[in-house]
Amino acid sequence: MQAILELCVEMDQLAEKTYNSLAKNCTDSPLKELFRQMSAEEGSHVGWWQDLLHAYEQGLMPNIVNSESGLADRMRSLSAELRAMIEGEEVPTDPEAALALAARIEFYMIDPVFGELIDLTEPGRAEQRRSAYSTHLERLISAIEQYYEPGSLAAFLAGILARTWHDNLTLAVYATRDPLTGIHNRRALDTHLHQWSAWSSRYGRPLTVLLIDIDFFKGINDDFGHRFGDTALRAVAHAIRSATRSSDMVVRYGGDEFAVIAPETDSDEYCLLVDRILETVRRLELNSDDGHTVPVSVSVGGVVAADIAGSNPRSIDKLLATADQGLYAAKNAGRNRASDPIVLGRER
Ligand code: GH3
Ligand code: MG
Repeated sequence: MQAILELCVEMDQLAEKTYNSLAKNCTDSPLKELFRQMSAEEGSHVGWWQDLLHAYEQGLMPNIVNSESGLADRMRSLSAELRAMIEGEEVPTDPEAALALAARIEFYMIDPVFGELIDLTEPGRAEQRRSAYSTHLERLISAIEQYYEPGSLAAFLAGILARTWHDNLTLAVYATRDPLTGIHNRRALDTHLHQWSAWSSRYGRPLTVLLIDIDFFKGINDDFGHRFGDTALRAVAHAIRSATRSSDMVVRYGGDEFAVIAPETDSDEYCLLVDRILETVRRLELNSDDGHTVPVSVSVGGVVAADIAGSNPRSIDKLLATADQGLYAAKNAGRNRASDPIVLGRER
């Protein structure tokens, strides 16, 4: 993990330095400005990796990269190729050659490896960083489109660069979303919960995890059909999404069960959050084909991790098993309700 993050720092530093030289040498002033900006952005990407590296070195981040050696080898060969390409060339001064070098640098930077690592950053940041990278890349692509003829090979290759980046984003969506409801799937939950639990204990910030299950859903399927059941699942997913913050993660945990990971949410906020979810679901108006309005409700259980800064991260299994106890209690108490939060650690 450490080696991988060090390679990320190294590659982005190399890109920062190269863009800086391009900015100095380039004779065309709009391009000078473009390269200056791209160099500054690479500097901030270096900061992303240094943040993660720092947390890892302090022992505050678990090693969550699977098949570590494979990833490290891939990063090493990317880095060596990038270095060989840059060091084997004079820094060009004419605009077209400078843009070609920039496009080749970005070709290495759109490797999916970087996307996976961005996902390890703290809650809410991964999306911001992905969109910052999109802007960075689009800046270069539109410059290439301006400087080269539309039918030229360079413009075509710029299009390939853009499409590869967008394809990477689309594939990441397929891998992490539930096709029926469009919300995150269990795979995304595992990755993020691991990381966000580490973030919560690293900085001593509260983290809430909820499990939510639709009440008597079998009956809804039996009475109104499976297709209507699917519509109800989509509507409940949407209701939960609309009752939560955009920085919260809403997941289809399986069947008629959902999970919410809410960073920065302590037990007071837990109560507000679960009330909002219960109420939004109760207000859904689901109409069956034969004109019935079908009432729907959910039961909710949850855990609040409230550890002091520098604690060991709570395991995913512990968090989910504790939330599940709360869900079981809410079902037993009569459904259509939430149980009190189960607090792990000491709240201030
Ligand atoms: P409880 O209040 O105890 O949760 O009762 P329940 O009837 O909801 O029981 P349970 O949660 O065990 O039922 C889950 C049902 O969800 C059973 C299964 O047929 C249905 N289900 C699971 N996945 C899907 C799906 O993708 N579409 C539809 N329509 N139904 C599904
Ligand atoms: Mg159920």
